[in-house]
Amino acid sequence: MARFFLTTAIDYANGDPHMGHAFEKVGADCIARYRRLRGDDVWFLIGMDEHGQKVAQTAQDRGVSPQALVDEIAATFQATWRALGISHDQFIRTTAPEHKAGVTDLIERIFRRNPDDFYERSYRGLYCVGCEAFKTGAEIVDGKCSIHPTRVLEEVEERNWFFRLSRYQGFLEELLERNPDFVRPEIRRNEILGLLRQGLEDVSASRSRITWAVPFPRPTSDGQAQTTYVWFDALPNYWTASRFPGSRAQWPAQLHVVGKDITRFHCVIWPAMLHAAGEPIPEGVWAHGFIYFGGDRLSKSAGVRLDLGEAIARHGPDALRYFLIRETGFANDGSFTWERFDERYGSDLADGLGNLASRTLAMLEKYRGGTVPAGSPTSLDAAGAATVTDYASAMDGLDLRGAAEAAWQLVAAANQYIVQVAPWTLARQGRDTELDAALAALAGCLVRLAVLTHPIMPGKARELWDHLGQSAPLDIAWAHALMPQVVGLKVRKPDGLFPRVPPTTP
Ligand SMILES: [Zn+2]
Repeated sequence: MARFFLTTAIDYANGDPHMGHAFEKVGADCIARYRRLRGDDVWFLIGMDEHGQKVAQTAQDRGVSPQALVDEIAATFQATWRALGISHDQFIRTTAPEHKAGVTDLIERIFRRNPDDFYERSYRGLYCVGCEAFKTGAEIVDGKCSIHPTRVLEEVEERNWFFRLSRYQGFLEELLERNPDFVRPEIRRNEILGLLRQGLEDVSASRSRITWAVPFPRPTSDGQAQTTYVWFDALPNYWTASRFPGSRAQWPAQLHVVGKDITRFHCVIWPAMLHAAGEPIPEGVWAHGFIYFGGDRLSKSAGVRLDLGEAIARHGPDALRYFLIRETGFANDGSFTWERFDERYGSDLADGLGNLASRTLAMLEKYRGGTVPAGSPTSLDAAGAATVTDYASAMDGLDLRGAAEAAWQLVAAANQYIVQVAPWTLARQGRDTELDAALAALAGCLVRLAVLTHPIMPGKARELWDHLGQSAPLDIAWAHALMPQVVGLKVRKPDGLFPRVPPTTP
């Protein structure tokens, strides 16, 4: 059984979960569920980044302790992921003692193995509290941080520990060359190669100004105790996850799923840190695009709001998962509009898969008393087998949209097949052998679709599975997609998989 340790970026504990967070979790969950279907031993890690100045400030503004604030936010995120059917195995929080001890350990390993990798340096610059970072060059627009135009940049000087990232230039170039799949998709790999060509600058590893953070294990030479800077605190979560009681996380990770804005940290700083500590590096990083809402990026700082709870409630969590994957894919930027969401729901789910399921199951009930007959193979069986191959090769290449497209091509083919074969005519004319073959082929097609839609829409796939008379011991497994066994299944008449209730646009 192949091990598959999969992670998403940890979310910053400053505000409510939004569509961007959901997009990343749904995509990663789809990969996790697909790997489980294929028989991998999956460990799926998500969590929260809970330290830093913004958390401390927000807590102060609200008159609560930072820990109380992050406890509340973590609970909100976890409730949202439950509602969306995210199947993570572990939810890590960077304020946990296991993580903090792990951060200290990783930094100490670097000090021991490569004592010269950390050094002290004075730094003066313009600091954005929103980003918790010094800003230079194009990051400053009209004297303000380009991401936080409403905040004032502060002039700051401090003496910090620095990490000698520049030393790892050659190592990183070789890594990307030797392993072209380390950064995917290709466009992100090219960005990282471009960064490396420009040359790497050393990065801060500690801060004197941030108190809500993991203590940096060693004081500066003037005796000052500092705290660990965000990247040395957040990135190691993937590595510290295995220290938690009950965790089966095993380093290295097979895949980090992150947003395209933080590939630099995951593909440059993180592998360099690990290499400096003598630890293996992750097998790959997948960077997804952003979701826009009416042309604007969804994020708290930009002030564009699209209520995630409302989007989940509109047609149910599975419909939202389907929309995000089918409409956006996982490589590109995508756009969310209520109109488009309703359209997809109507055409692909209600009229597409829902209609196919209800027609097939109703005919099985009407013509064969709800029991799937034996029948010789048809063109639909061949189409189904081909779809399974296409779907698997798309999923294996992390082309989630391609996989959804393959499954829905089969939905369209099966709906066409019904029109073409006209089982009602076969029944009227008493052509029983042909009718049996058609009904068996349609039932087999639904079994395949229950398997293929499971990573995308786990709740609806389960409902379909139950309607097909499958029961707990016969759990959804890849073998059913390869070779559906349908003869003798007792199916139930559907009660509307995707009810057609056109809601009003809010
Ligand atoms: Zn900023």
